[in-house]
Amino acid sequence: MSDTSSALRIVWIYPDLLSTYGDQGNVLILRRRAELRGIATEIVRVHSSDPVPVEGDIYLLGGGEDRPQILAAERLRADGGLKRAAERGAAVFAVCAGYQIIGETYGDDAANPLPGVGILDVRSGRGETRAVGEIVADVDPALGVGRITGFENHQGRTAIGPSAKPLSTTVRGIGNDDATEGAYQGQILGTYLHGPALPRNPALADLLLRWRVGEIAPLPPSWGERLHDERLAAVL
Ligand code: GLN
Repeated sequence: MSDTSSALRIVWIYPDLLSTYGDQGNVLILRRRAELRGIATEIVRVHSSDPVPVEGDIYLLGGGEDRPQILAAERLRADGGLKRAAERGAAVFAVCAGYQIIGETYGDDAANPLPGVGILDVRSGRGETRAVGEIVADVDPALGVGRITGFENHQGRTAIGPSAKPLSTTVRGIGNDDATEGAYQGQILGTYLHGPALPRNPALADLLLRWRVGEIAPLPPSWGERLHDERLAAVL
């Protein structure tokens, strides 16, 4: 990563361990929606054997199966770069396994609690059932995102601590606990939504961009908005 660049630095954490159900689409749509506003971007792919740079603007983590998730959490904790970046004020967008491991604790495949990176005040354990299917949720009005749609597939359930807030209220599907979906704390945001989440919810991508660059021009509705509306109509 160049330290002199004025480009928006999008850091994709561990594509070799955390990227199920097309989560890399989040990287692509973030770059696309930035560049449509004339914002230059730099994409940094950080493999699990690499150090995590601390000078990024937006860090993205995807979902993962139980064992790769444990490996990813161990490496991120040992590396320390993601935590330092969050302390510097970087934005983080983490999906499913990524969401669980940026929390305080998460459950392994035998329901034992394991330590997370500790940048989001949530604790995840194992549920009795697997949450699988389409999910729809209404985002906290303070974030100006509206209704979001995605696909979930997880055994974990997540409790939100006092320093974080629920991202949204679940309309269809399970999310954290059948009542709320995802969490945020400052510019750290976690969600169970795959799909991938940002192509299916352009307003969520724009929230991350606004957090980093301030006000951004609206874009004319395109295939992302059409996909969003089509999925909502199909599910509700
Ligand atoms: N392994 C985690 C769970 O089942 C996360 C799954 C995922 O990322 N899709 O809860």
